[in-house]
Amino acid sequence: MNLLIMGGPGAGKGTMSEKILDKFNILHISTGDIFRAEIAQQTKLGLLAKSYIDKGLLVPDDVTNSMVKSFLEKSDHSKGYLLDGYPRTIDQARAFNELVAGSDLEIDKVLFMDIPFDVLAQRITGRRICKKCGAIYHITNKPSQKEGVCDVCGGDLYQRKDDTLESLRVRVDEYSKLTQPVLDYYADKGLVTTINANQSIEDVWSDVQKALED
Ligand code: AMP
Repeated sequence: MNLLIMGGPGAGKGTMSEKILDKFNILHISTGDIFRAEIAQQTKLGLLAKSYIDKGLLVPDDVTNSMVKSFLEKSDHSKGYLLDGYPRTIDQARAFNELVAGSDLEIDKVLFMDIPFDVLAQRITGRRICKKCGAIYHITNKPSQKEGVCDVCGGDLYQRKDDTLESLRVRVDEYSKLTQPVLDYYADKGLVTTINANQSIEDVWSDVQKALED
């Protein structure tokens, strides 16, 4: 099963991705994660990516496309994959389509996590992340047992610098501008299932599973 999950910042894409990967054991292709790993290892690609990411810019399409290509080539995708954070632009979508056309790597389904802006705003501004293990909490929806302390590893919880309302608006506008054409591209191919992301995690997960069974 080859999947693409899409959704703006805070739509719950990360949570659903984890559950999908857990259940179906498919290859996770997260361009954000791959860039972070390359940056941590200080590779040439990592340094190049960092110069864009630090400025809040997207890494150029050709760099991102060839990174995804080589990641696919060296990874086990026999059970399928979950694309997460890629394609983010229409040119990336076209390049990926060209890469996989006619093979068993074509995308079977696109899940679009749909959520109204005001709900997103509440989610994003309350988000807290563990400095040590990266576990994600929310001050009202998913609080840690002890305020400011991670339940999993005891690390300190922090708020991402860009998890503010102003920055959210910029990110959402930017996301929609670039990503709407990507969504339209896959909708034209009849691949998109829209998931109501404004529900409890359990209900969203139940809808996602139904969509994947179809
Ligand atoms: P993410 O964790 O998906 O939000 O990605 C973190 C950062 O990596 C983004 O803000 C971009 O700068 C870069 N990035 C991730 N995926 C892509 C992509 N598909 N195209 C271009 N840049 C990307």
